[in-house]
Amino acid sequence: MSLAAEYLRKLRLSINEIEVSKAHQLQGAGDLLIDIREPDETAAGLPAGAVALPRSALELKIEQLAQPGDQVMLLCGSGQRSLLAAANLHELGYTRICSVIGGYAAWKNAQLPVVVPPRMDSVQRQRYSRQMILDQVGEAGQARLEQSRVLVVGAGGLGCPASLYLAAAGVGTLTLADADRVELSNLHRQVLHGTASLGEPKVQSARARLRALNPEISVRALESRVTEANVEALVAEHDLIIDGADNLATRYLLNAACVAAGKPLVYAAVERFDAQVSVFWPAAPDGPWPCYRCLFPYPPPPEAAPNCAEAGVLGVVPGIVGMMQANEALKLLLQIGKPLTGRLLCFDARQASWRELRLPVDPHCPGCGDQPAAVGDIVSCRTAD
Ligand SMILES: [Zn+2]
Repeated sequence: MSLAAEYLRKLRLSINEIEVSKAHQLQGAGDLLIDIREPDETAAGLPAGAVALPRSALELKIEQLAQPGDQVMLLCGSGQRSLLAAANLHELGYTRICSVIGGYAAWKNAQLPVVVPPRMDSVQRQRYSRQMILDQVGEAGQARLEQSRVLVVGAGGLGCPASLYLAAAGVGTLTLADADRVELSNLHRQVLHGTASLGEPKVQSARARLRALNPEISVRALESRVTEANVEALVAEHDLIIDGADNLATRYLLNAACVAAGKPLVYAAVERFDAQVSVFWPAAPDGPWPCYRCLFPYPPPPEAAPNCAEAGVLGVVPGIVGMMQANEALKLLLQIGKPLTGRLLCFDARQASWRELRLPVDPHCPGCGDQPAAVGDIVSCRTAD
């Protein structure tokens, strides 16, 4: 017996090995499956739901995925490298580690689900290189962004900066919904539009600018308001929604549709020198968290809620919180960091200060409580005092 074979035989006495069917079952129960093969191997496919973390980086990066007490399963090509890697992780303190017998070959033979990551060409690698070198993004995160679909409601002061950075980051599908045309008074804050675009539909002007920035992505221009008739279908088609609406009726409608569909709503609002930003997502995996109506159960009378045309706004203010919305969206899509769920950030441009308010869930909330209003039930908003 060779030295390597003898060593593997000894390891088998101390490291837990499991069949692929058992690994698939445990994965379904929430246990982590790591494919430790090299990128040129996983490019052809890997188990669905597995995290790709090459053997060469395993010890250095495992802490970002699992703590020593967690159950972790390792899979390689045939079950040998994963056994050696499991021994190393065991020494690091990962005592609930196991190796999948037969590796990816056995997984495929058992006809268990696999995914083939989208191939990234050299142009894309260069375009996204500065964010892909981040451990928390990498090729897998970039592929996730490419497969993501974000609805941006409003191509105005918030939607412009938010979609600019989402497009630059490589979010694969952006849908912009807005029925307005570009006016001269928009240009001090709606930075996707230029003087040459005056009179054009905002979504067309925005689409041209975003496609010029990043032709790799798909930008859908919906020259329409979000209404009761289209909101549910729009929300269903997207992973998350950026609220850049300029009116309260749309905000309440978006909140209702997002609560019903279990989708995150990335919210911001501006007035004069002040802004607010938060993430409303009652159904988040670490929830429950509040919805928009836990904070604002009913809209105020119109005279108490002036829009930018009435109250005025310093152009940079929506720029700052629109980018905060892009930041929250990217974190949610990449599943990194701590989202703004349950927190309201309030920005004061004059003082250059941020205040953070804790937002509790309201158990009697008309949006997400015991008896939520129907998606189109704006009437109940209007009639409440
Ligand atoms: Zn609520």
